[in-house]
Amino acid sequence: MIIAVDGPAASGKGTIARALARHYGLPHLDTGLLYRAVGIEVLRAGGDPSDALDALRACGFDSALLAQPELKTEAAGKAASLVSVHPQVREALLERQRGFAAQPGGAVLDGRDIGTVIAPEADAKLFVTASPKVRAERRFRELESMGAGVGFDDVLADILARDERDMGRSAAPLRQAEDADLLDTSDLSIDAAVQRAISLVEGRTADR
Ligand code: C5P
Repeated sequence: MIIAVDGPAASGKGTIARALARHYGLPHLDTGLLYRAVGIEVLRAGGDPSDALDALRACGFDSALLAQPELKTEAAGKAASLVSVHPQVREALLERQRGFAAQPGGAVLDGRDIGTVIAPEADAKLFVTASPKVRAERRFRELESMGAGVGFDDVLADILARDERDMGRSAAPLRQAEDADLLDTSDLSIDAAVQRAISLVEGRTADR
């Protein structure tokens, strides 16, 4: 069974994808990490994430990079969002993601274009969202707990800029697949959102 989980930054899609993977005993790939690794690799090489050639050169990053905490920083998220607009970068990361989805037994993948481009054949697709304000509050609390001295308005502005770039780009823009179920987590606790996700997946796969 392949489960595709897409949605904007801080929507809860990563938490939901991990919980679904545990529930169904499936391997999970956070595809955002691949773009974050490319972004960090460009920065380390002194390149410009907005430059297609610099970004493409960084696609051969060492897999060990995927485990590094630096990938979780806001700087990595921003660089990821800049490199991900280049079609050449998306193409370079495509096979790795398709291979993961196609493994025997299936997998859970989360990202922006899983249901639309990477695994359009997925058995269940969720489009996880929440209002920009709620997403900014979540990200703000997370950053505060990590001791980062950031202001709420800056976090909200960053979320809105990321949304605009992810939805507005021409290569694989963030959008809900036609056959995806919408899950708005704005007013849901983590447990309630996970339960809802499981029942949506059950609804799509029960008769198989
Ligand atoms: O999900 P995460 O915040 O880690 O993703 C970082 C950035 O990587 C996103 O803002 C998006 O621009 C890009 N991305 C993408 N396609 C994916 C996953 C992430 O374009 N499948």
